[in-house]
This record gives sequence, structure tokens and C-alpha cells, in this order.
Amino acid sequence: MINQERIKNLLLELVKIDSHSRKERDVAKRIKKYCEEMGAQVEIDDAGDRVGGNTGNVIARFPGTIQNAQPIMMSAHMDTVVPGEGVKPIVEGDIIRTDGTTVLGGDDKSGCAVIIEVIRCLQEQNIPHAPIEAIFSICEEVGLLGAKNVDVSKIKAKYGIVFDSDDPGFLFTKGPSSNHMEFRIRGLESHAGVAPEEGISAIKIAAEGIAAMKLGRIDEETTANIGQIEGGMATNIIPNLVVLKGEGTCSIVCSRRHQNTKLPWQEKPPGPASKNISNATIRRWMCRTARMLCSL
Ligand SMILES: [Zn+2]
Repeated sequence: MINQERIKNLLLELVKIDSHSRKERDVAKRIKKYCEEMGAQVEIDDAGDRVGGNTGNVIARFPGTIQNAQPIMMSAHMDTVVPGEGVKPIVEGDIIRTDGTTVLGGDDKSGCAVIIEVIRCLQEQNIPHAPIEAIFSICEEVGLLGAKNVDVSKIKAKYGIVFDSDDPGFLFTKGPSSNHMEFRIRGLESHAGVAPEEGISAIKIAAEGIAAMKLGRIDEETTANIGQIEGGMATNIIPNLVVLKGEGTCSIVCSRRHQNTKLPWQEKPPGPASKNISNATIRRWMCRTARMLCSL
């Protein structure tokens, strides 16, 4: 199904084009040209301006042949690590290697070549397919800067495949992630000796909230921790502010559902405590936050 000679030649062609991170312009132009020849609508976005590179990401939209099919994204990165300029690939049977003076750049020119060859085959062999949004990104090797600067509002696909692993035949569906959270608990300041009835202790509320949270190992793929606590002015002042900082880590399957989860620390906190907001209300809010964290 795949034209092996063609994909090999395309890979050899791409690896010979220098494309260190932030200098991917030449390979971006070549990929843009091929995608346009295949009937894609192609744009180069402005990510390069934002990361100090000489080109942006190449985003190529190929129409689908299945009516009403959801688009799918395919992505690979165009940049390579150093030393990756002046690559002289050597072909020995099924092996493509370098002459030893540079990296090959198979990471991730092979992914770029796979995407182009797959779409060529779909078109030539009239294989029904969904619309394809192909994203060839810049600056992956220096912190995924191209991917981070894609305007995702322009991408219609809900699912995608990133061709950037070192072995064919398996698929990464999970990745570790962590979310930082900060709670600011406001009480009411008052003199602890003279008018304790007038105060609401932020420390007491925080303590009750923390005690109600599920922390540590939540399940086999989730952990949660409160790691810092600050607050209070003096022993004779009922504290009006406590700040808690913590994080939750997950190794869950990344899916649209999770992206859309309303993260608890994005919620608006209940605001300064007053006589109208009971400790119980604030405690409930903190518990709900902890539960939401656990459900991520
Ligand atoms: Zn890579």
C-alpha cells in the first residue's frame, strides 16, 4: 500500500535540508509545496515570530472524502537537534544512517515523510478518509515551542496522531502531567484577646479544609499534595489570610473530555469571608475542589 521507494526518497530529501530549531524555513517551504501539490490549503502560522524563529508551523488542510466525517489531525516536527547541518545520509539495505559527523534528523523528518506518504496513498488509491489537518511544527526540540504556539481555535480535529516516537508499531496514549493549585483562604482579622468573637480564623478553616481533602496517592495514576502553607501575622491576631500551594499529578489518557474539565483552581473562590459565609461553606468549597482534583 505504501510506496516504499517514494517514502525513502522523501526522507532522504528532507534530512538533507538543514533545520535546526528556529531555522526550519527551508524544510517548511518544501513541505508546504508538497502539501499544496496534493491539494491542501496551506498556511504558515506566526509561531516563528513569537519564538524567534525564521518560520512558523506549517498547517495543511486536506479535504476529506467521507461526508460529515470528523477531521483528524496528524503532526510531526520539522526541527532537529544539533549537529544536524550538512547531513549526508548513507543507505545500506533497510538502514539509513549518517556518516557520523551529524545526527540523521530522522527525529522527526521520518514523521513528516510518513504523513505526506500516507496522504499521497489515500489520494492515489481512492481510500475514503476524513478531512486531515496536518501540522508540521517548529522548535519541538527546544521545548515544544511550535506546538505550544499553535492557535488551537483554528484546528477542528478533536483527535490526532503525533508521529514522533523511535519505534514503529506502538502508540503512546498517556503522558504524565501536573497541575498546580493555590488556595487563598480569607477570614476576618480581629484581636484574639479582646474580640475573638469578631474574627474568623483563616488558619482554622484551612486546617479543616486540608483535613477533609484526599491527598497522597489518589489512585494508581493520580497523586495530590499540599506542599506549602503560609499565613498569620502574630499570635494575638486572628489570621485573615492563609495561602496553600499544592499540585496534582496525573498520567491519564489525554482527551478532549479532560481538556474541557473545569479545573478546580480555575474556579472563582468564594471571596473574602464575612459573617454571611460560614466556615462550613468555605470548607465545602475546599472539599469540592479536592474531589474535583481527584476526579481528573
Ligand atoms: Zn522528536
